[in-house]
Amino acid sequence: MDFLAPSEPKVVNELEKPWKVLIVDDDPDVHEVTRIAVSGTKFENRPFRLLHALSAHEAKEILREHDDIAVALVDVVMESDTAGLGLVSWIRDDIGNRFTRLILRTGQPGYAPQTDVIMKFDIDGYAEKAELSRTKLITAIVTALRGYKLVMSLETNRRKLKELNDHFAEIVQQNALSEFAAAVLEHFTSLIDKPVDCLLCGFETLPEYIGADKADIRVLSARGVHEDKVDLPLDVISSTEIRQTVHQCIETQEICSGSDGVALPLVTRNGMSGALFMGTSYANLEESIGTEVVQLFMSNAALGYEKTGLLEHIRNLAYVDRLTGLSTFSGFLEAYYRNTLTASKLLVVHADIQRFRIIVDGIGDEKASGVLKKTGHRLSRTFPDALSIARKEKDEFLILLKGGDDEDIQDVVSRIERAFQEPIRLDDTQLMLRPRLGFAQSSGPADTAELVASQASIALNDVRQNANMSHAVFNPQMQEEAFERLRLASLLTGGEDQTEFSVHYQPIMLARDESIASFEALMRFRNPGGAFLNTARMIDAAETSGQITEIGAWMFRNSFAEFSKMDGVGDHVTLNVNLSPRQVHAKRIYKDIEDAANNASLPLSRLVFEVTEGLFLSNDQVTLDLLHWLRNRGAKVVIDDFGTGYSSLAYLRKLPVDGIKIDRSFIMYMDQDPDALAVVKSIIAVAQALDLNVTAEGVENVAQRQIMQELNCTHLQGYLYSKPLDTADLNNFISKAIGPGVAYG
Ligand code: C2E
Ligand code: CA
Ligand code: CA
Repeated sequence: MDFLAPSEPKVVNELEKPWKVLIVDDDPDVHEVTRIAVSGTKFENRPFRLLHALSAHEAKEILREHDDIAVALVDVVMESDTAGLGLVSWIRDDIGNRFTRLILRTGQPGYAPQTDVIMKFDIDGYAEKAELSRTKLITAIVTALRGYKLVMSLETNRRKLKELNDHFAEIVQQNALSEFAAAVLEHFTSLIDKPVDCLLCGFETLPEYIGADKADIRVLSARGVHEDKVDLPLDVISSTEIRQTVHQCIETQEICSGSDGVALPLVTRNGMSGALFMGTSYANLEESIGTEVVQLFMSNAALGYEKTGLLEHIRNLAYVDRLTGLSTFSGFLEAYYRNTLTASKLLVVHADIQRFRIIVDGIGDEKASGVLKKTGHRLSRTFPDALSIARKEKDEFLILLKGGDDEDIQDVVSRIERAFQEPIRLDDTQLMLRPRLGFAQSSGPADTAELVASQASIALNDVRQNANMSHAVFNPQMQEEAFERLRLASLLTGGEDQTEFSVHYQPIMLARDESIASFEALMRFRNPGGAFLNTARMIDAAETSGQITEIGAWMFRNSFAEFSKMDGVGDHVTLNVNLSPRQVHAKRIYKDIEDAANNASLPLSRLVFEVTEGLFLSNDQVTLDLLHWLRNRGAKVVIDDFGTGYSSLAYLRKLPVDGIKIDRSFIMYMDQDPDALAVVKSIIAVAQALDLNVTAEGVENVAQRQIMQELNCTHLQGYLYSKPLDTADLNNFISKAIGPGVAYG
């Protein structure tokens, strides 16, 4: 068919690019007639270029070669009766060409294709060759070309939007809102094909998060004359007209036109609404890209805007602790990595608040949150030089500082001490907080943030085990001990088969005549090897893991039974039992006590329950109910470890208790430290005024005994008389006691 093909022009002006029209017909005359008919014709200034195929087979080759054939005129009957229809089906289905417009032609009436074929293959026209006059032929081709142009422009826009969508998805994933906004403008202006001054305005984060109002609307991105306003508030745009149009658009979420241009709304579902301002009229936009594309673009942009905003919000959530406004642990780790690049030595401080759990038990969760908030503020004020301050969980804080020498550590300790000299005030409560600190230094770039943070927390754990310590610096030996503690906790989990539970008894003497007044039951844990485990640590582990209620029930059963069977003990001698906060709050405690007492035939009047101060910090009804219940049945209640807590002496009056036990630490320092002595004196004075018993705990020497006797303390307990004893040793102790089996000599 070469003789029919025009020679390919060398350089084609884009605008004069010819429309390719394919003629498929087995009759060469038809080709010639068609060529003559359309020669010299142009559509929209573009000439026609005819391609010729004498069979469906040839047509396929041409179609494979040219993907931009605008129209194909296809003879229905060629090699076979259905060759034309076969070709059409091949074009649409096999090679998936949806764009080329198809006109079917037939020489014989009766070969007209069925209407369902016309529908199925998206056919633009059907004509009998006989009636194809020049005018009719050109009309049919031009109509088809219009269709082709429309399909192609839809396709181009569809492609552009798809590209845009993919691109948006990419930006949304990795970039900040400002970059997203810049991309929106870039793509939108590229759709228009000519430069326009434009702005993208909106909020930088979720309005509910910042409590946004009009003043928070910012220029997220800009092109043209406004380019220098990026990142600034909308108010800096000098044109009142533009500002008003944008405000109105954001407020009404509708397209708003002003004399300077038009604002298109970005409507999001999370209230992050925004506006795309274009320095041109809406009519112009419609003309150059079409309403549908504008709308599609805006809804895509809105989705992207919403997503980027959400991601920023989520990033904030991940890095900002909502309660305190401090960093989160993730934020802390990030700060650590950022700073390893520049700082040679980093110091990690892991802090918590002594007895915070008890405080929460006492004042309730809501107030405890208030305490944490204030603690956070205090830490921020105390460490303006911190590289990061984070709340890890509950009452645990992390501080990242430069340095790590001994002086740096000492400096942190004294800054904390000074900062927490003042109590934390919450409407009706005042709390003295005692932070405990664990320190760890990075010793090189190989130390990861997680490692150093975990070392600081091991150091803190060491402090927790030791009531007299306020801080510790990590050393490798602590790691060993940490493993040891884990092992202990698992021993406890193993229960009685692995760990032997028993009760020891420590006598409490009447100060007046040093006769036996009571025995304090104290848990003992022995490992399978026979060695005793540290009681305070085991109780702590049991309390943390929740096993304390079970162990407590065992303790009641066992100690009540043993005590009721002790020889030579008069009815006036009582048994002191410790209750931890978690036990007090467990409903089963009533039944546990009642059952154990019944089984041992022990009246509750022979029992004294020791509880800690923290339980009383709020008038928690659960605690009060239990204490009233116990006292109504004749049992007594005393406050253990008195003086280490938080509250003033004045509140003692209101509590349903019979006595207090002054904490061992006061007794220990009383003979050397005048302050300790003064505290002890005032505690005793108040207790006496309220008619409460006073037990001095940890009396180890005669000097201490003497002071306590002089101060009219009612009960004495400590190594001076006896360590806690097992039942055999206790029998021995009782039998040696003076007088009718009760007084100590
Ligand atoms: P706690 O209630 O303050 O008990 C007094 C602790 O001081 C006991 O330690 C006792 O052995 C010790 N102690 C007594 N006199 C002296 C002294 O003169 N000098 C010195 N240095 N220490 C003295 P233990 O037996 O190790 O018990 C530790 C803590 O474990 C107890 O402190 C108590 O809080 C808890 N605990 C023990 N048994 C139980 C129990 O059955 N239930 C609950 N909830 N807690 C228990
Ligand atoms: Ca006790
Ligand atoms: Ca005590």
